[in-house]
Parts: sequence; C-alpha cells; structure tokens
Amino acid sequence: MSHPTYEILALRYAHLAERTQRDVLVFPEDHAAPMPLDFYIWAIRGEGRTILLDTGFDRASGDRRGRQWLRSPLDALRSAGIDPDAIEDVVLSHMHWDHAGHWAEFPKARFHLQDAEMAWCTGRCMCHRSMNFVFDVEHVVTAVRHVFDGRVAFHDGEAEIAPGITLHLVGGHSGGMQVVRVPTARGWVVLASDAAHFWHNIRKRSPFWIVPDFPGMIRGWELCERLADGPDHIIPGHDPAVLRRFPTLSGDPDTVQVHLAPEA
Ligand SMILES: [Zn+2]
Ligand SMILES: [Zn+2]
Repeated sequence: MSHPTYEILALRYAHLAERTQRDVLVFPEDHAAPMPLDFYIWAIRGEGRTILLDTGFDRASGDRRGRQWLRSPLDALRSAGIDPDAIEDVVLSHMHWDHAGHWAEFPKARFHLQDAEMAWCTGRCMCHRSMNFVFDVEHVVTAVRHVFDGRVAFHDGEAEIAPGITLHLVGGHSGGMQVVRVPTARGWVVLASDAAHFWHNIRKRSPFWIVPDFPGMIRGWELCERLADGPDHIIPGHDPAVLRRFPTLSGDPDTVQVHLAPEA
C-alpha cells in the first residue's frame, strides 16, 4: 500500500438493549432473537491529524428516545487522548439524529456531507413524519447555519479528504449516506456506519428496517465489499459485536481499535 496508514477507534457512547430481530429487521429470521444496538462515533488518526466520523446524539435527545447514555461522545474522545477543540475534519455519514449532534462542540471543524444528504434532510420527504422522525430538526437547522458560515464541505460521490482516506456515496438508508474507506496496517477498512447497522445486515443481505431505498442498500453493501479487504474489514454502525471482537484501547471496554485484527 503506497498510502500512509491510520489508526481507527470505535468509541461507544450509548446503548439500546430492548430490541429483537422483529424490531430492527425487515426480514427477521428469528423474531424474538435479541438484537440490541450500540451507538458509536469513530476517530481516524495518523499523519498528525484526527478525522472524526459522526458526532453522536446529545443526552436530552437520547433520553427522549429512551436510549441508555453511557458517556458524552466528547468525553469518549477526551478519554482516548483526542481534543475535540482541535479536530479539523468531521465526516457526517448521514444526518440521522443519532449521528449528527454536537456541532458547536467542534469549533475548528469542517463538516463533510454529501450533496444528496443535505438535499434529502431539507427537502420534500421531510414533510412526512414517517420520513422525518429519524432526523432532529435542530441538527438540520444547525447544518444549514454552518453552510452559511462556510463550514460545510460538500461532496458529490467519491472524495479523498486526506491521503488515502476516501468518502463514498451509498444509497439505501438515507438520501445521501456516505461510508469511509481508510488504509490501515491490516489493509483497507470501511467504516460503514448505517450502510450496515450489524454484520448480520450485510452478510445475510437482510436490511435494517429504515430503508427508503432497498436496491440502493444492496448496491451499498456490494460497494463496501469491493472497497474493504475482507468481511471483517467492514465495520458496522451499531453492532455490539464490534466491542467484543476488537482489542480495547488502554483497557477501556467502550473504545476498541478496529485497525487491528479482530481477536474473536
Ligand atoms: Zn441512520
Ligand atoms: Zn444510526
């Protein structure tokens, strides 16, 4: 690999225990099988920079929706030795409420968004509760304010945002979801975020229930598989197994190093 390589941390900040396959899959295999969700942000570091993927939700918003808050995403970063004030690049995989809070707490950041996602979360689909409930209008308004402040970097499809690190537009789960491909010492890793909530989704071709575009979701899985060096190089967005499988950082059970080989 001619690119530099980077470390990637998956930092868990919240949890949702009471979910089964029936609740979260369009085609459950075993309706009553537990399928809890974890909530993560991801930090990519190397070459003197830290790039953040997603910013997580704030506590009030999580409490309203009954999520179990473990720690602030900002505190999670600080515990890993990352100063949020110094982060210059934040990638938003998509604008759903649980991925796009805390804009004000990254004072130096540019926010990388796909054109299609901004069009989606400010456009006609948002007239409908059945489409807009996965967004927090305050996040969307904040994003628009940041556009006017010149702090949103728009992308239309693939873009390289640092040497070797690329963004890729995928369909399926939102209007303009993007995944991030990162060169690491173990090869190309793809941070799928909600392009695959669980390994189950991508491996069994079984979509999470929020899927406005099912064909786009399938093409997104295929793209993730082309971009990654293997099935364990695709990191799902909400899968508790990520924490179980990868080595922790300094013994913190909620922060794992996904640039290293899985241990289980
Ligand atoms: Zn989502
Ligand atoms: Zn999500």
